[in-house]
Amino acid sequence: MQPVFDGHNDVLLRLWSNAAKGADPVAEFMEGTGEGHIDMPRAQKGGLAGGLCAIYISSGDIGDDNRDANGHYAVPLSEPLERAPSLDIALDMASIAFRIDRAGGWKICRNSKDIAAAEAEGKFAAVLHMEGCEAIDADLAALDVFYAAGLRSLGPVWSRHTIFGHGVPFAFPSSPDTGPGLTEAGKRLVKECNRIGIAIDLAHITEQGFWDVARLSDKPLIVSHSNAHALTPISRNLTDKQLGAVRESNGLVGLNFAVTMLRADGGKRADTPLSDMIRHVDHLVEHVGIDGVALGSDFDGATIPAEIGDAAGLQNLVAALRDAGYGDAELKKICRDNWLRVLRAAWHETEAN
Ligand code: ZN
Repeated sequence: MQPVFDGHNDVLLRLWSNAAKGADPVAEFMEGTGEGHIDMPRAQKGGLAGGLCAIYISSGDIGDDNRDANGHYAVPLSEPLERAPSLDIALDMASIAFRIDRAGGWKICRNSKDIAAAEAEGKFAAVLHMEGCEAIDADLAALDVFYAAGLRSLGPVWSRHTIFGHGVPFAFPSSPDTGPGLTEAGKRLVKECNRIGIAIDLAHITEQGFWDVARLSDKPLIVSHSNAHALTPISRNLTDKQLGAVRESNGLVGLNFAVTMLRADGGKRADTPLSDMIRHVDHLVEHVGIDGVALGSDFDGATIPAEIGDAAGLQNLVAALRDAGYGDAELKKICRDNWLRVLRAAWHETEAN
């Protein structure tokens, strides 16, 4: 079995939502309920060794079922969120993560040594990520506190505007160039993340925002869960020019399993074949290189191919990649090592430590 370190999941959102209805999030993760995509039993079964777990404030259903006869849609951007309730939710989700850690269900990892230790113990290596920074203030005081608590990755925006920048709305077909990029506060956020060692994730930002970060950041560019715009022209996917910039920076793109971002017709159909995922991986490898392609499942956050189903089915994708010609060394990079390399760079780690 090829262990997978995955770049994006929304398991904390699912656990938090169910906790609000009275469920015990620790038991739900450790024992599993069969709902959604990730829990401890299914992660172990599928070789999901760890990944970035998003603290994300939901705007509710994104509305991409509302399509015209051609399957096209253009969802207006979700309304910006107020900071105070967003901070409360972010704290609740972080608290769930720490309670699972205390119960031994996973290990919150703050550096690559922690990840290696979790892997050696057979524990899910969870890295805390913030998808959209509604919980962070313009002076970045909350950033210091979340960093001290273990936050090691963030996206300045989800598909919403924040004080830090502009998100890309969900639209198909659509260019990712849908509006302005980073604000002045966003530029300060990028610089500060570079300085203290927090990875910056460019999924969900406008193309302009992507280029703003490319100019400002001195770290490899990371897009945790996006695919190739040339194959699936949804606003959330990356143009070949963006892929070239990721390659230039020694960065990484994580393959998103969301069928709406994989299919040529953008359809939301669970019967999407794994061959659509292979097409995207081939394209990403061609444009970013074998050292810059990884996985960013969006487990618990999207409709994914039924042939994978949930974390337990992850090795079906590995097998499909193998059948498509990817050998052991390449699979190791795609499934784990590329993520570790860019995180180490973002976290100021050198090969020596
Ligand atoms: Zn996302």
